[in-house]
Amino acid sequence: MPSERPAVFFDRDGTLIREVHFCSDASQVKVIPGAPEALLRLSAAGFALVIITNQSGIGRGYFTHDDYRLVHEEVLWQLKPAEITAAYFDDSTPDNPSDRRKPSPGMVEEAARDHGLDLSRSYFVGDRRADIECGKNAGLRTVLVETGYGRDHLDCGADAVVPDIGFAADWILQEASCPR
Ligand SMILES: [Mg+2]
Repeated sequence: MPSERPAVFFDRDGTLIREVHFCSDASQVKVIPGAPEALLRLSAAGFALVIITNQSGIGRGYFTHDDYRLVHEEVLWQLKPAEITAAYFDDSTPDNPSDRRKPSPGMVEEAARDHGLDLSRSYFVGDRRADIECGKNAGLRTVLVETGYGRDHLDCGADAVVPDIGFAADWILQEASCPR
């Protein structure tokens, strides 16, 4: 059986890039300070880097799939020299959620199948309760960042609460180095 590698799954808005209400244009994209460096450290340690994002703005008709793709290209550009392994989005709305929309683990499980990821050694980093619940539903250890909406979700039951993605990388690298 081929060896599977661990991953860090990231929410996008409020975690990798600053939170703006329904980011729909590349001009609104601004990465969280320190994000590229944090991602580089995690990939150097052997983690795949996967974005898992709810984009109900599409389902609500606020923006299109093409708008999403342009924003995504800008996110990838601003995160360089870090390289994102893969990104998954769901365009359904809270009123009529698909079986992939966070907190469902559907997109995480899809990524694991597509990329041969070992979920037992993987992590989810996000700024909302739905991110932490998604991670838990997929059997991952979870980190809440206080950027974005994080301070409104401090009681979400994450394994760690940290100021931002740089500290999340510190915590994950420390955890991963400790045998369980
Ligand atoms: Mg978010």
